[in-house]
Amino acid sequence: MRLILMGPPGVGKGTQANNLKIHYNIIHLSTGDILRAELSAKTELGNRAKKYMDAGELVPDELLLSMMENRLQQDDCSDGYLLDGFPRTIPQAEGLTRIMKKLGHKMDAAVSLFADEDELITRLVLRGKTSGRSDDTEEVIKQRQKIYWKATAPLLDYYKETKLLKEVDGLGDIDEITQRIIGALS
Ligand code: AMP
Repeated sequence: MRLILMGPPGVGKGTQANNLKIHYNIIHLSTGDILRAELSAKTELGNRAKKYMDAGELVPDELLLSMMENRLQQDDCSDGYLLDGFPRTIPQAEGLTRIMKKLGHKMDAAVSLFADEDELITRLVLRGKTSGRSDDTEEVIKQRQKIYWKATAPLLDYYKETKLLKEVDGLGDIDEITQRIIGALS
């Protein structure tokens, strides 16, 4: 199973990704997590990504694409994966299609979790109190939401056209949402 999990910041992508990776026995690749690890290890990529991440802006497409091209070639990706937080722009989606074709991988679905924006901001502000994430402040959260709707929402059309899109209500009980997603994929 090869999946993309999309949705605005705070919709619970990380939580659902955890449940789905267990259910489908695939690895979970979160570009946010990978970038945060690069950042704390102070690698060249981490240093280049830092200013964008701190401002709630997207890291440039070419950095993401070369990072993911390397990652998807690794052995643990051969049986399937769940992409969380990637692609986030049309050029990233086109790049991913190209990379997967080169690797002989087929995408099964792009799951889009949707939810009310005000509800999401409230949740993220709460998460910021315990997450220690420097980008979970109200100002940066609003910026991340804005970017999602501008750069990432057009991806819904991209995956609709390729018949891969599955839209799932992201509000409610965690396990119930997981079941909704599994139902949409079966
Ligand atoms: P996330 O944990 O997915 O919310 O990502 C945190 C931050 O990492 C984002 O606000 C971006 O700065 C950066 N980031 C993660 N994934 C991507 C991506 N696919 N394209 C560009 N920037 C990204």
